[in-house]
Amino acid sequence: MSSADPQPNDPSKPFESAKSEVQRMTLDQRAQMDELMRLRHSCAHILATAVLRIWPDARLDIGPPTDEGFYYDFDLAHRFSPEDFPRIEEEMRKVIKENQVFEKSIKTRDEARAWFESRGQVFKVQRLGDIPEGEAISFYQNGEFVDLCAGPHVMRTGNVKPGAVKLLKLASAYFKGNEKNPQLQRLYGTAFKTRDELEAWVTLQEEAKKRDHRRIGAEMGLFAFDAEYVGPGLVLWLPKGGVLVEELEKLAKETEFQAGYVRVRTPHLAKEKMYTTSGHLPYYVESMFPPMEMLEEDERKLREKLQERRADLIRLRDGMAQATAANTAGLTTEQLTRDIARIETEITFLGGRYYLKAMNCPHHHRIFAAESRSYRDLPLRMAEYGTCYRYEQSGELFGLMRVRAMNMNDAHLYCTAEQFADEFRAVNDMYLKYFKIFGLDRYQMRFSTHDPARLGQKFVNEPELWKQTEDMVRRVLIESGINYVEVANEAAFYGPKIDVQVWSAIGREFTIATNQVDFAVPKRFGLTYRDRDNTDKTPLCIHRAPLGTHERFIGFLIEHYAGNFPLWLAPEQVRILTLGDEAPLVDYAKGILAELRAQFVRVEGDFGTDPIKAKVADAEKARVHTMLVIGGRDLEAGQVSVRLHSKGPQGAKPRAEVIADIVAAIRERRA
Ligand SMILES: [Zn+2]
Ligand SMILES: [Zn+2]
Repeated sequence: MSSADPQPNDPSKPFESAKSEVQRMTLDQRAQMDELMRLRHSCAHILATAVLRIWPDARLDIGPPTDEGFYYDFDLAHRFSPEDFPRIEEEMRKVIKENQVFEKSIKTRDEARAWFESRGQVFKVQRLGDIPEGEAISFYQNGEFVDLCAGPHVMRTGNVKPGAVKLLKLASAYFKGNEKNPQLQRLYGTAFKTRDELEAWVTLQEEAKKRDHRRIGAEMGLFAFDAEYVGPGLVLWLPKGGVLVEELEKLAKETEFQAGYVRVRTPHLAKEKMYTTSGHLPYYVESMFPPMEMLEEDERKLREKLQERRADLIRLRDGMAQATAANTAGLTTEQLTRDIARIETEITFLGGRYYLKAMNCPHHHRIFAAESRSYRDLPLRMAEYGTCYRYEQSGELFGLMRVRAMNMNDAHLYCTAEQFADEFRAVNDMYLKYFKIFGLDRYQMRFSTHDPARLGQKFVNEPELWKQTEDMVRRVLIESGINYVEVANEAAFYGPKIDVQVWSAIGREFTIATNQVDFAVPKRFGLTYRDRDNTDKTPLCIHRAPLGTHERFIGFLIEHYAGNFPLWLAPEQVRILTLGDEAPLVDYAKGILAELRAQFVRVEGDFGTDPIKAKVADAEKARVHTMLVIGGRDLEAGQVSVRLHSKGPQGAKPRAEVIADIVAAIRERRA
């Protein structure tokens, strides 16, 4: 249950996903709807008004706001197509210009039902049934359009700027998200407070599309999926993607080494007992791969024996039934039936169930438990790029962002309460160090705390530890000057957590990692250390994974850099291009190549007869970071002409200087 893991693979929220059916909002949530949500939801009403004007026989379902805008679900004979958008948008602008008031009214359940039935609005009739007894059934009217809705809205349709609304796309959606129900047509749109904001958003979407990690991944040959032979959601890293994995892992290893971590290695599976102890089972079972039933050699033999015994007893019972219950051993058929059942149970419980690990923590806890620990051994910082497996619904798999097998930049820090603040501070510093390396200057930490009123229910009942650790976390965040927000009542069950959000170069938000304090699970695993006073104490545990999983983090980096990785990370760092294929020139180029490769630079050569323009175009297309162009003059002067990807020529420099500079830039991981 405990994990420092990027969402949406966060096991503490295993079922949070983009379902087509939105949950009905509570009245409280509605009251808190922010201004933008209110505006967008009002636009859904405006959309329905417009659609009904054009297609009066349309039947309506619901029109909630979403993170990106809003939608409305319709049932009508006409098949919507994007060609309809201008016409619908024009009608929406009319509704906006009419500046209609959103007017609320209350109906009784019977009145509401009669109202919708008389208009053939069958979906609305069914939606009525979802409103809890005792909750007011409110209607909102704008102009001629009346909708079942709990609000809230803007005051008037005129509060929406006509140029700040846009229809986006179409989808089909089952009524209430259930495929047994009729299929409806969903129209998506978005709205902003101003036209400028809408335009900025549209530009961002276009840029994001260009930077889509699946597209760039294919162009650059970074990774592949093979649903037929390997399975959906299981990434195959191609050689160039493998470079990214290796470089990130190297960065993590070096950074962690310098921060006093030790590295461990654990298998990819464990017995059922591990996960009942950790709490993953049974709560998290749906997000794990199904178990493997395994029999050890002696258990297999025992099973054969039991099966034989069972067959004997069945034969005996059948014989007795024929001989009408007369038997010499004093056994009755009832006794035999009971014995057979007992043997069958024994067979069922033979052997063990193994699960693919969904998290590394339990294995690390067992490593902690593998040796006796004293306070002198703490803090113990145990790191591993561990492979985890999560069962995600196939419809929810998404490129590298949502996969079924992932490699996590995991570590567990076991420490005493006194050591906690320093350890936590060091973890934060590590995050900041990584942000700097990747040029992430916009980030936020979301600090989730507990609610004292719900101790023992939603939160483990350790009032002192909660207070103590939350105070320490808060103090560290303030002292480090880290940009953070505090959210009450959203901690994990076993301790406060910090979600780390970053913004990519084009301003897209990602949650890359979750950082958690855990004071419950070490206890469940019986982890102790011998303290100074000779008593056994339970350590605190910090889960952290600043680089998230390779899959998700690389997906993020591809979009962040648009595939134009900094030199240290670039799959092909350097390509040497010769102006022609004359022997002295090629020999000179090969010498440089050999020298760079000896220093572990990923360098290739293009020494053929193609014109230099074509060679450069080729290297640019492959997003090679640095091109070294070599002509006759370079050879004579012992120099190299440097060209950078998407930046152009940088002039000629002495050969030794160029090589030294490349090697230094890689070693320092320059941006
Ligand atoms: Zn963990
Ligand atoms: Zn509404």
